[in-house]
Amino acid sequence: MQVTVDQDRCCGSGQCVLTAPAVFDQSDEDGLVRLLRPGPDGEQRAAVRLAAALCPGNAITVLDE
Ligand code: SF4
Repeated sequence: MQVTVDQDRCCGSGQCVLTAPAVFDQSDEDGLVRLLRPGPDGEQRAAVRLAAALCPGNAITVLDE
């Protein structure tokens, strides 16, 4: 799994951080998403898929390898 984020689409809702805190964070400066783990391990993958589905800006892309 390969995860990317598009900060231009992020509105800083924080949903991703609540759903998958090991993979996503929010900047203290602008509130936008920061990607902590572009290649999440197995136990984090379901949470990442849910975060991508819930993201109101459609800013999270998940590619399966
Ligand atoms: S859920 Fe989407 S819009 Fe909200 S902070 Fe995360 S990436 Fe940004």
